[in-house]
Parts: sequence; C-alpha cells; structure tokens
Amino acid sequence: MAHCKFCLNNTVDTWFGSWCEKCHKLQRIIALFGIDKVSNILDTVLLVDFDSQKTKVKSLIKEELSERVSKLIEKKEKKHRKLDAIEEKIEETNHEDNKLTKV
Ligand SMILES: [Zn+2]
Repeated sequence: MAHCKFCLNNTVDTWFGSWCEKCHKLQRIIALFGIDKVSNILDTVLLVDFDSQKTKVKSLIKEELSERVSKLIEKKEKKHRKLDAIEEKIEETNHEDNKLTKV
C-alpha cells in the first residue's frame, strides 16, 4: 500500500485511497469545526514558542507562590492577634489577683 499524501508518513487506509486513517479523521474534524477554528487551535496550542511558554509558566508559578505567601502571612497575623488577646487577658487577671491580695 502507498503512503498517505497528506502526512507522508502512514500507509493509506484503502487500496485506492490517498490518505491514512488519521488524516481522514483530521479531515472530518475540520469539516465539523471549520478550518479557521482548527487552524487557530493549532497555532495557539502547538506553535507557541518555547520562550513564551516558559515566561507564562514562570508568571503562573509566581502568582501561585505570592497567593500562598499572602495566605500564610494572613494566618500568622491571625495567630498573633489571638496570642495578643490571650496575653491581655492574662495581664488583666494578674492585675485583679494583685488587687485581691492587697485587700
Ligand atoms: Zn496521513
């Protein structure tokens, strides 16, 4: 059997056909969604250059990390506020105890 005339890689799916099974599938997908949409997806997904992918990944990681850091800072501040409130209560009770012992 001959090679596919589209991908030039696989063998054709029928004796008198020109394309392989996968290329026929691509043809049906293009017929279903339209050549512009399929071409746009290929351009935006597969043909993105490595540098812009790297930059995008770095920015996503940076966003994620800054979010986590701000959540941790927020948690730490809440703990400090609770500890401050507990310390204030302890001091108040100590003052009251001192007043009671003096009387
Ligand atoms: Zn093919």
